[in-house]
Amino acid sequence: MPAQAYDETNIFARILRGDLPCTKVLETDAVLAFMDIMPRADGHVLVIPKAPARTLLDIDPGSLATLIVEVQRIARAVKQALVADGVTIWQFNEPAGGQEVPHLHFHVLPRWNNVELRPRTGATDKPEVLIALAEKIAGALATGG
Ligand code: AMP
Repeated sequence: MPAQAYDETNIFARILRGDLPCTKVLETDAVLAFMDIMPRADGHVLVIPKAPARTLLDIDPGSLATLIVEVQRIARAVKQALVADGVTIWQFNEPAGGQEVPHLHFHVLPRWNNVELRPRTGATDKPEVLIALAEKIAGALATGG
């Protein structure tokens, strides 16, 4: 079955075009990392390719290689900045696989011993909270996180 066409109107495509705001953690030529607006943990970051890929299955391998290296860099920085005990990485493909936004993304979730992820309520965090966390993580990135 041919891959479904990329939807240029999806939320992350609009963020990449600058049509919607985000709380940026890192931007390179190929990758954007920003705070999840409905975080399941303090410091929940999304890492996306700038290439218009729908899922992990259809991104070209070179872009995926660049992306996963940035996911590692963000995960290290999140862990250091927020003094986490561990990190959970999520990545979902297609609605059947749990994907809601049809632009490839990795979730980076800092974890602390005996602390559960927050339930999914649809509640958004306040911009100032997200900005403070993003600044901490960006600070760790700047020092090699
Ligand atoms: P999923 O496609 O299921 O992997 O999840 C999409 C993620 O995007 C969810 O964790 C949402 O909270 C998050 N999200 C949706 N809209 C925005 C937005 N405008 N800015 C940041 N994160 C978002």
